[in-house]
Amino acid sequence: MDSRSLLDEAIECATITRLQRTIREMCDRSDEALQVAREALLVRNEDEQKKEDVAKDLGPSSTNKRKRASGEMMKRYEICKQCKQEYDVTKNWPESCVWHRGLLFVDNEHETWVDWPDFMDMYSEETQNEYPEGFIWDCCEKRGTEPGCQKSIHRPKDAKRARREV
Ligand SMILES: [Zn+2]
Ligand SMILES: [Zn+2]
Repeated sequence: MDSRSLLDEAIECATITRLQRTIREMCDRSDEALQVAREALLVRNEDEQKKEDVAKDLGPSSTNKRKRASGEMMKRYEICKQCKQEYDVTKNWPESCVWHRGLLFVDNEHETWVDWPDFMDMYSEETQNEYPEGFIWDCCEKRGTEPGCQKSIHRPKDAKRARREV
């Protein structure tokens, strides 16, 4: 095996923490690596502004909410606090995010819980992810497996922290 394929294999099986540390080291040591990382992970705010202009044509939008100066760099990818998915801030449209506003509650009648041991937590995040069919959304009374009942733009999980870091 040549050393490049071996390296590819090592990248493939490395943990996220190790890869994050490696990328930071690469950025510290090489301007070119720094440039590549910037291009991949950051975006200029103007692009974000364009998206908002498009959104404005489709309905009323809160323009005074915007505090970042145009031209400032920002993170290109965020995790959405509504649908929990990663999204590209340059492709965040008024109906990009399909999500449930409510909470999941256990459907006691469902077969998932027939032989459920008493000591195990039915409400945990793991059971919600593993047995969504055993839950009902309280916003729309749809089953846990059903797509979201709300549509909106994606909203970043850590908006406040991101703003402070800039
Ligand atoms: Zn819902
Ligand atoms: Zn979302």
